[in-house]
Amino acid sequence: MKILRIEHIGIAVERLENRSPFWAHVLGIKHASTEIVKHEGVKTDIYDTGSGKVELLKSISDDSTIEKFLNKKGEGIHHVCLQVDDVEQAIIELKENNISIISEKPSIGAEGYKIVFIHPKSTGGVLVELAEKAT
Ligand code: ZN
Repeated sequence: MKILRIEHIGIAVERLENRSPFWAHVLGIKHASTEIVKHEGVKTDIYDTGSGKVELLKSISDDSTIEKFLNKKGEGIHHVCLQVDDVEQAIIELKENNISIISEKPSIGAEGYKIVFIHPKSTGGVLVELAEKAT
């Protein structure tokens, strides 16, 4: 696998409208998109610095992973996402190295990226997302 860059940092928030102004207006980072990712039960608000994004994540479902995260830990960094050239190849290599991944097959995340999550127990406590840009 080839890691291309840090794609984004995912931050769990209770309410987008309370947290967006800091990123958009105080820091002045360009808003890239707002999107509902239904199967993940989240609404995302994405800000693009031009070299890496900030992805605010709000739960829209009682059983989403973001809801569980917020209940357990409160607002804060939820995951770090690295862009890869080929997510299927990455999954093969992770399995060869006995790294715990959350699902065996990539799913489609925000902005159409093909994604897979690596379990924090394999990374030193950080949920890591690998994402391949849609072609
Ligand atoms: Zn993400």
